[in-house]
Amino acid sequence: MPSEEELDRAAAILRSGHLVAIPTETVYGLAANALDREAVRRIFKWKGRPLSSPLIVHVASLEMARSLAREWPPEAGILAGAFWPGPLTLVLPKQPIVPDEVTAGLDTVGIRMPSHPVALELIRRTGLPLAAPSANQFTQLSPTTAAHVRQAFGDSVVVVDGGACEVGIESTVVALRNGEVTVLRPGMIAVEAMEALLGRTVHIAGSVEGPHPSPGMHHRHYSPRTRVVLVAANQLPEGAGAYLHISEPQRSGHNMAMPSDPAAYAQRLYQVLHAADALALDWIAIELPPQTPEWAAIHDRLRRAAN
Ligand code: AMP
Ligand code: MG
Repeated sequence: MPSEEELDRAAAILRSGHLVAIPTETVYGLAANALDREAVRRIFKWKGRPLSSPLIVHVASLEMARSLAREWPPEAGILAGAFWPGPLTLVLPKQPIVPDEVTAGLDTVGIRMPSHPVALELIRRTGLPLAAPSANQFTQLSPTTAAHVRQAFGDSVVVVDGGACEVGIESTVVALRNGEVTVLRPGMIAVEAMEALLGRTVHIAGSVEGPHPSPGMHHRHYSPRTRVVLVAANQLPEGAGAYLHISEPQRSGHNMAMPSDPAAYAQRLYQVLHAADALALDWIAIELPPQTPEWAAIHDRLRRAAN
C-alpha cells in the first residue's frame, strides 16, 4: 500500500490538473479531475484514445454520483445499493458540470464507485470525481499491476502502486434510460444477477457487428501484440506459441495454466496475456472456456483480444 506522502503527492498532482495512474479493483486507471476539461484532454493525448470514446467517472459517495447525474431513476438506486462499491458503471443523463470531453459529446455520463481503498482514498483526499480509463495505450492490453503501467508509460506518469487488481477485467457498463436497463459492456457483474435483483429483463446492446447505440462501443481490442487464436482444448496451430489452458495440455511448450473458476480466471487473464506477449512467439492460443453465463464477460474480452 502507498505511504501517506505518496497519497498526498498523488492528490496534489490530481488537484493541479495533471495525471496519475491509480489502482482500482478492475484495472489500473489513468486518472484526472473529471470536472477539468484540460486535465481530461491530457488523458486522451497520453492514451492516443479517440475523443469519440467516453470516459468513466469514479466517485467515492452516492452524493458525488448524484451531483453528476441529472436523473437518478429507481434502478440506479437498486443497482448502486447492491453493487457499489464495485465493478459496475451506470450510464445516466449528465449534469452540465460534466465536460463534453468526458462524455464524448453525449448527454450521458458513465459513473462508478470503485472498491479499491486507494482509489476511494484519492477521490476523498482531492474531493474530486476522477475520470480514469485504463492506463495503457488505446487498443492495447489493460494493466492489472503497477509494472504493466510502467511498461506502457515509463517514468513519465506517476503510478500509485496498490497491488494486483482483484477483479482483473473492466467494469460492467449499464445504461439506464427511459425505464430500460441495457448492458453496453459485459463484466463480472452478470446480467442474470441484475435481472434477479430488478425482477425484470436486462437488455444487451448489439454486438460489435451491429449499429452502435453510443460512440463508446466502436472496435476495442484489449489486444496483445502477438496474434491470439481461440481454440478447442489442445487444438493448437503449427509453430511455436503460448497455450492458455484450462484442461490438461497434451503438448509440452509454453503452457500457462488458467483457473477453472471464472472470477479467478478474470483476475489472472491480463497478467498471463502480458507475460505470454513478452515471449514474442508466433501465437497465443487460448482454450475457449465453457459457454455458460458466468463466462460471458471473459468470452467478450477473449473475442476482442483475438480480433
Ligand atoms: P474504459 O474507460 O476504457 O474502461 O471504457 C469506458 C467504456 O464505458 C466506454 O468505452 C463505453 O463503452 C462506456 N461508457 C462510458 N461512458 C459512457 C456513456 N456516457 N455512454 C455510453 N457508454 C459509456
Ligand atoms: Mg481501456
